[in-house]
Amino acid sequence: MMKITNIVLCALALFVVSTILPARPKSRDDVGLKWLETNFELLDSVSKAIHAFAEPGYQEYKSSTLLISILEENGFSVEKGVAGIPTAFVATYGEGKPIIGILAEYDALPGLSQAAVPYRQPVVEEGYGHGCGHNLLGTGSLAAALAISKWLAQGHLGTVKLFGCPAEEGGGAKNYMVRDGVFDGLDAAFIWHPATRNQTNLNSGSATMTIDFTFHGKGAHAGAQPWNGRSAFDAVEALDYMTNLMREHVRPETRLHYAVTRTNPAPNVVPDLSVVRYYIRHPEVEYMKAVTERVIKAAEGAALGTGTTMSYELINSNYPVLANSVLCDIVCKKQNEVGGVILSEAEKEFCREILKNTGRDPEDFGNFAEVAPEVRPNRPLGSSSDAGSVSFVAPTAKLYVACCTLGGGGHSWQQVAVGGTTIGTKAVVNVGKIYYLTALELFKKPELLKAAREEFLKARGKDFVYESLVGDRKPPLDYRN
Ligand SMILES: [Zn+2]
Repeated sequence: MMKITNIVLCALALFVVSTILPARPKSRDDVGLKWLETNFELLDSVSKAIHAFAEPGYQEYKSSTLLISILEENGFSVEKGVAGIPTAFVATYGEGKPIIGILAEYDALPGLSQAAVPYRQPVVEEGYGHGCGHNLLGTGSLAAALAISKWLAQGHLGTVKLFGCPAEEGGGAKNYMVRDGVFDGLDAAFIWHPATRNQTNLNSGSATMTIDFTFHGKGAHAGAQPWNGRSAFDAVEALDYMTNLMREHVRPETRLHYAVTRTNPAPNVVPDLSVVRYYIRHPEVEYMKAVTERVIKAAEGAALGTGTTMSYELINSNYPVLANSVLCDIVCKKQNEVGGVILSEAEKEFCREILKNTGRDPEDFGNFAEVAPEVRPNRPLGSSSDAGSVSFVAPTAKLYVACCTLGGGGHSWQQVAVGGTTIGTKAVVNVGKIYYLTALELFKKPELLKAAREEFLKARGKDFVYESLVGDRKPPLDYRN
């Protein structure tokens, strides 16, 4: 009798408790994937809007405002204008450790204005266009951050941050953001880039230095009295000649490029002012700095020999990208789970048309559907990115997702054309899924983040102290003017 009363009382108590306290919904791991699948239209509209804005570096007001408004609508708190850059921001969701950061870019390139059609058709003659696919880069990173926030919203401990990073194309905003501590405290940083393949790789890229050399001469009529002039452009030519000779006497991985950005365009004027912009690259920071010193000496010599004066200004300088193999291996696993980017017949036809108009085999539009094997170990490349500087303050994962057809490669009108279609948006969703799954793995297994940090500290070197390669200069907000 006693026993039955006890059972009845227990059952009654359980019933009362269960009616007072609502049952906690079971956390679902597919919540972010579901969100990505049902928000294709939203992501498509964001990507296409940024594609149409096509704003120059440090002038991405509309693009950053659009990204911020969506983040705020989804519960992120946003710090705007970080590091003294009006179009840079940090959007945060969640609480406590670990903290995962995703980097977004959204600047366009000059001269690449292009409609989303498979033939050359600028929207604005000589206007800006997304030749590096940064409309996709920004939207793909947004997709990942939003998906991760949906998982965190179920009551999990951890934080996701989306970093709005302007002016990747030569303006180097991340260097100033790193210098100002914007990325401090990150347990992992995720970067990605549009590509012609689906792949993770550990290639490091080069450290780079951008310098403007300005020569002042003496103007004169080139026909009537050239002896009264001292040509600033002669000085540029002398400098370029010396650096071209120098190529034989620097280590083979060194890259030297230059472009004359200002001079008098009339041949019958002895120019009193000429400016040449140099990129100096090498996979090792110290060697890149040593070659830079030699180029500065050559510029001094050029001024001396041509009777002109020279001044120089450091415009930008990046660390090489240090990819973390612990993180990249997880990304690779997740990319294989998610798979490649599947094109519809109409999308394939779009790629074929581009290839025909580029004089290539129309069937050779790259491998969108498959995931290529991970590239390891690290092989230094000639290219560079200001994401390199972030990779020296936080363990960094890298990812490439197919959304460019072959025949143009990066920085081409073909990339702008493809980036304005649903091919690009499919890649955006793909990035969202891969980084969502990677983040979940890291949130659930802290030992992976510990291993990533150990590798990161070892790769930087025992006595490494982050030194800003841009010194204390202000961000060059007007570098596109
Ligand atoms: Zn890019």
